[in-house]
Order: sequence, then structure tokens, then C-alpha cells
Amino acid sequence: MKSKYMKQEKIQSAISENKHVHSGRGCCCDDDECINALLETEPLVVKRIEGAVGTILEGLGEDPVREGLLKTPERVARSLRFLTSGYSQNPEELLKNAVFTETYDEMVLVKDIDIFSMCEHHMLPFFGKAHVAYIPDGKIVGLSKLARVVEVFARRLQVQERLTQQIRDAIQHVLHPKGVGVVIEARHMCMVMRGVEKLNSVTTTSAMSGQFITSQSTRNEFLRLIRP
Ligand SMILES: [Zn+2]
Repeated sequence: MKSKYMKQEKIQSAISENKHVHSGRGCCCDDDECINALLETEPLVVKRIEGAVGTILEGLGEDPVREGLLKTPERVARSLRFLTSGYSQNPEELLKNAVFTETYDEMVLVKDIDIFSMCEHHMLPFFGKAHVAYIPDGKIVGLSKLARVVEVFARRLQVQERLTQQIRDAIQHVLHPKGVGVVIEARHMCMVMRGVEKLNSVTTTSAMSGQFITSQSTRNEFLRLIRP
């Protein structure tokens, strides 16, 4: 018999090694024990976050048992679990499941992918658009998977710089294309609502590889195509 503690340890290591694709419905490793362990511990995880949110409410001088706040800790906990659900999904596995052999060798670009993420410094949202391009080298990937990869990395605590690079690296590792280009334009609520209060500032980050670095014309074509 395994204890709850051991199960939780197993989940932690699965998440930190980032090997498994978990969702409410399944796991990429087809390990039943793994899936069951996750499903069993989810309520414990939610309860733990609930407790912490209750403490925050008290810290703010609020009355956590007044009507409007009674269910807030639970709602916040569930909402946080959803907004960070990317931790339990493996973007590279996701891509691998939709790779096809094709001779097409021009740029593939999916632009204006909506992103909603949370900055890890303030746990406040940042949101905007991602543009993802690559030049195939014998392999293409289902277009919707590019958007899914963006989503999985975005649903974690992030900084925009790392998010941009992680998307590039995942595509590079799985497809080995001739190059990858990623640009993200986002507004950060930690800048808008607090601190410098710059309402309209947009942060742009880019990460490139292969021909997007070595070929000026490839780079220019990409930047021209994503221009609004
Ligand atoms: Zn921030």
C-alpha cells in the first residue's frame, strides 16, 4: 500500500521532470497509477490553496466569512489551478502527436494567437498576441498544435521573455525545422494597475533560431507578415 505522501511525491517529480502530459482525462505515459494518483490528490491541492487564500483575505483585513467572500477561497483555488494547468501538460509530447512528413519548405506562420498568462513576479495577468513561424525541413506539424503549445506554456507562472523562448525551443526540438521565429506582444497588468501605471504600454519579445537568425530576408519576411 502506498501512502498519500508517496503519491504526492510521485506527482511532484512527474511535474518537475516535465515528462508527463496529464489532464483530467489521461496521462501520456499511460500509467494508471500515475493518473489515479493525480486525480486523488487534486482535491488536496485545491484545499491547500483555499487555506492560503483565506489567510490572504484575513491579511487584507477582510472578513472571510461574510456572504460575498464565503466561497471566494474555493473559487480562487479552482481558477488558479486552471490558469496554471500548463504545468501538468508537456508541450513537446503534444507536438509529437501531430507531426507529418511533407516537402513544403516555405515559411509557415500562425499569427495573432491570443495569449493569457500570469507574471511570476506579481501573479497578475499579462495578455496579448503571439506570432509563431517556422520553416519546415521535411516535417510539418498540425497548425492547431502551434497554438496549443503557446497555451500550455502560457498557463504557467511566466515572464514574457522565457515564454517566448520556451515556445521556440519546443518547436525546434520536436520538428528540427530550418528555423523558428516567435514574437509576443503583451500588456502586463502589473504595469497597468500598479507601479508605473502605464496604461497603453506593450512589451514585445522575440526568439528566433536557424534561418530566422542567419537570413536577413527570412527575418524581414516574418516581421513584415506579422505587422498589423
Ligand atoms: Zn509583474
